[in-house]
Amino acid sequence: LREKMSDQESYVEELTDKSDDYSRWYTEVILKAELADYAPVRGCMVIRPYGYTLWENMQRLLDARIKATGHVNAYFPLLIPESFLAREAEHVAGFAPEVAWVTQGGSERLEERLAVRPTSEAIIGMMYSKWIHSWRDLPVLINQWCNVMRWEKVTRLFLRTTEFLWQEGHTVHRTDEEAQEETLKMLGVYSAFLREDLAVPVIPGQKTEAEKFKGAERTYSIEAMMGDGRALQAGTSHHLGQHFAKVFNITFQDMDGERKHAWQTSWGVSTRLIGAVIMVHGDDSGLILPPRVAPIQVAVIPIWRKEHEREEVADFVARVQRALGGSVRLKVDWDDEHTPGWKFNEWELRGVPLRMEVGPRDVKNNQVVLVRRDNRAKEMVPFDNIQARTTELLEEVQSDLFKRAQAFLESRTRHVDSYEEFKRELEGEQRGFLLAHWCNDPACEARIKEETRATIRCIPLEGEAEEGACVLCGGVSGSRVVFGRSY
Ligand SMILES: [Zn+2]
Repeated sequence: LREKMSDQESYVEELTDKSDDYSRWYTEVILKAELADYAPVRGCMVIRPYGYTLWENMQRLLDARIKATGHVNAYFPLLIPESFLAREAEHVAGFAPEVAWVTQGGSERLEERLAVRPTSEAIIGMMYSKWIHSWRDLPVLINQWCNVMRWEKVTRLFLRTTEFLWQEGHTVHRTDEEAQEETLKMLGVYSAFLREDLAVPVIPGQKTEAEKFKGAERTYSIEAMMGDGRALQAGTSHHLGQHFAKVFNITFQDMDGERKHAWQTSWGVSTRLIGAVIMVHGDDSGLILPPRVAPIQVAVIPIWRKEHEREEVADFVARVQRALGGSVRLKVDWDDEHTPGWKFNEWELRGVPLRMEVGPRDVKNNQVVLVRRDNRAKEMVPFDNIQARTTELLEEVQSDLFKRAQAFLESRTRHVDSYEEFKRELEGEQRGFLLAHWCNDPACEARIKEETRATIRCIPLEGEAEEGACVLCGGVSGSRVVFGRSY
């Protein structure tokens, strides 16, 4: 028994505490839970099967929401001719420092460089100009799931990698109002996806001029708070106005017979959401995955000592599996190299929402033991009730994770009215978001960023407007904005 205890303890000791070194904890969790690994090219990442299954589950749920709002999927090429990218000046200037170029094909030097897509507005805009002729062709509501590449200097697994996976929606509309409605609709789809499926609370809002997407008229984002109080921009939705329509000549004949430029939007979320799930829910024992997206929802740990006990337990586990009838994603850990205690830790580290223990005594009593990952609450469940109770507990974990994260977000979001207080709060132990007044002047925004490293995350869409004085210059402000340090 003593041997087993030390086996169990050493395993837990290996993981750095969140409070000791948050960034190290984050990386260790990813590597130990086998979500991802480093690739040979700096800044690139290998998404391992456990991490990829998590992504597939997220993708499936979001894809259903995107389709339910009338969009369809398509695929556009990875390579974009330089001349296309260069057409929208602000757009190309925004992306130029991080574009990877293909200059050679086989042994031939290319006449024109090809960009590995950092985003697809240019190539899609060019195709739309071919496809759209009349108001009857509108709206165009296309989404694509793909990889993109941005040559980042400082990278971090899932949060900022040179190549990442995402979806990018690109829509075309007849009017400015329709495009604006679409932009906000998709921001709403993202908010609901994060809140309901990922159990991650978000603040939807508009980006300032300085923080908006290069080439967009207006950018909206959803901002989430990580476990260390820093902000993560979790998704963006852009009203592109007519900028791209003008440079790519996307025109249509309107109902009145006149030729007009179309109005566009684009919106995206990426594998960085996996980083958000890790940081919002995880604890000192590792990951905690929301049941709706967890690759494994229930880890079954059979417990036995003697061979005849193993058989009894195996029969019982098979009955449990039949009773659950494929309604939950379940993994039975029959590995006989490790102790049950070691396995408890292993599946906790991997964030499986529920653990089911089945030992000889449980078989005799016709029951299982269920333990929640989030609060470790333990209960005996009679065989006849396993299906109903498991489903119910998964739903409880899902909603409790959201409540816990929401309470954290609220407790770390403070109203501040002076610059002294602003700076003090950012340096404090309980740092998070600051709701402060801002006069709309980019100079104030820039100075605050330079002096405190805090940026305006968004001008929130929800909540009431309130007049006040800019936290830096005292100028007139119509509403509070969300400041924070970000990833
Ligand atoms: Zn000001």
